[in-house]
Amino acid sequence: MSDNTRQLPVITLPTDAGLAMAPNELGQQSRRLPPWLRRNLEPGGGHGETASLIAELGLETVCSSAKCPNRLECWSARTATFMILGNVCTRPCGFCSVPKGKTEALELDEPLRVAEAAKRLGLKHVVITSVTRDDLADGGADHFRQTIDAVRAATGATIEVLVPDFIGKEGALAQLMAAKPDVFNHNTETVPRLYRTVRGRKSHYPWTLKLLADAKKIMPTVKTKSGLMLGLGETHDELLDVFADLLEQGVDFLTLGQYLQPTLESLAVERYLPPEEFETLGALARSMGFKQVASGPLVRSSYHARDMAENGLVE
Ligand code: SF4
Repeated sequence: MSDNTRQLPVITLPTDAGLAMAPNELGQQSRRLPPWLRRNLEPGGGHGETASLIAELGLETVCSSAKCPNRLECWSARTATFMILGNVCTRPCGFCSVPKGKTEALELDEPLRVAEAAKRLGLKHVVITSVTRDDLADGGADHFRQTIDAVRAATGATIEVLVPDFIGKEGALAQLMAAKPDVFNHNTETVPRLYRTVRGRKSHYPWTLKLLADAKKIMPTVKTKSGLMLGLGETHDELLDVFADLLEQGVDFLTLGQYLQPTLESLAVERYLPPEEFETLGALARSMGFKQVASGPLVRSSYHARDMAENGLVE
């Protein structure tokens, strides 16, 4: 999948700037976070309005379910990433704090409630994600389509979807793409060597690449996007191989952020990369050909997604 003969610029990255972490020490972890991951935002601010609206409309967000460190900042700025298809996932990923197990029936009015929230928040760019629903015949693709249609009708906003791989769901991707999202995001999450550890036995690296390539084949004008969490034990060479593989699939936008252990049971952090290392990797990714790159310790796939989309969609 990668062209290992490609010519890449030689870079020197710090090798000892991260902090070693013992596994499953969430309490200690928060005390031992390096200074660049400590956030100084005070509770309060404007985030309560966003929280109230989401609660009033009975919606889920990945901001809360994934314990995102940027929630106060994003919600204070009246932006959130909606998570549809319930709050229970059918995949056993080791990095994610979304509950796993028995799923519930689809809420048929959820697309309209997401649209209402997006409208009342005044969103110009709406990011919609979901849990993985291997139990549904179409993986939830039609529910995604309905949500995109409803949000667009209510807001006229650009739409970004962050989707599961829909593996084994014949026709699901085409069904979703019929709604013509502006940005199609599927996260790679980690390098192939760590896929089984990080994403579990039900996810495979080639499926990720194929989904991103297929989305572009179905809708050549869509911007495709993918992201990785760093600090799980990946090497720089492995990252460069993944960058090359993503570019081969025509991926336009890339996000790189620090993995943070969300619960005591989740995978431990192997290393905290300093901001300079993220900057270097981001510059390298740009030089390799990605049109938009966000790289930093607190970057998440939906962090400042509107900025990336606005810059990338006008290119
Ligand atoms: S970065 Fe994304 S997931 Fe995190 S709080 Fe912001 S919008 Fe939510």
